[in-house]
Amino acid sequence: MQFEKTKRSKLNRRPDRGSFDKETIYKIIDEAFYCHVSFIQNDMPFVIPTIHARMEDKIILHGAKASRMLKHISAGNEVCIAITLMDGLVFARSVFHHSMNYRSVVLFGSGEEVKDKIIKFNAFHAITNHIMPGRWDDARRPNKKEMDATAVVSIKIDEASAKIRTGPPVDDADDYDLPVWAGELPFLKGFDLPINDPKLNPGIPIPEYLKIK
Ligand SMILES: Cc1cc2nc3c(=O)[nH]c(=O)nc-3n(C[C@H](O)[C@H](O)[C@H](O)COP(=O)(O)OP(=O)(O)OC[C@H]3O[C@@H](n4cnc5c(N)ncnc54)[C@H](O)[C@@H]3O)c2cc1C
Repeated sequence: MQFEKTKRSKLNRRPDRGSFDKETIYKIIDEAFYCHVSFIQNDMPFVIPTIHARMEDKIILHGAKASRMLKHISAGNEVCIAITLMDGLVFARSVFHHSMNYRSVVLFGSGEEVKDKIIKFNAFHAITNHIMPGRWDDARRPNKKEMDATAVVSIKIDEASAKIRTGPPVDDADDYDLPVWAGELPFLKGFDLPINDPKLNPGIPIPEYLKIK
């Protein structure tokens, strides 16, 4: 299944690195911990980083009811969201051809506030388990007061593209003889060992899902 290639989602620059494949795009969205949401308000562009989750073809965002961004989306306005995974640094023989390996997504859609209590509860579940699968089953679930204090919006992904760079640097033909190291420095993704909250009651073990290699 593919997203439609539209006038604004069609990659002009390096279209060979582009993809409109839904599975590819969803995988990048699901691997990222946060996204950047951009919108226009009063003729001014803004971009706001925030946590997200995906529920089928929708991006879910949450936050304080007072959030300008969430109010803007709740009003049905369109947003453009960027999601980036950096996979490594690419060192070329010339400064000009230095680059990064990455997987990124740019998507467009308009949103609405999630008012249905069950869908809102499911959105909390999706966000919690998106950040750490298994956490929802351990932590206390949101109560009515917390649910009421939090706005949740759902943005239907109308258009989306991925762009992916992999592999070694691409140098100018003449530069391959230069005595300069060239190659890739893969970016290690992972977490360090969990640190107990100083206020943690004794006897509570670290959950298995946090013992990430
Ligand atoms: C980590 C990272 C570092 C980068 N560094 C540079 C850099 O230093 N210099 C540079 O010129 N470019 C860089 N890029 C590529 C950059 O994101 C753009 O793709 C590129 O600059 C072309 O921009 P444009 O506005 O001409 O895009 P166009 O090709 O005109 O964009 C048209 C449409 O294609 C889609 N699109 C464009 N870029 C992306 C993308 N990255 N992911 C998904 N969809 C996309 C969007 O829907 C966009 O509206 C980087 C990308 C990443 C992820």
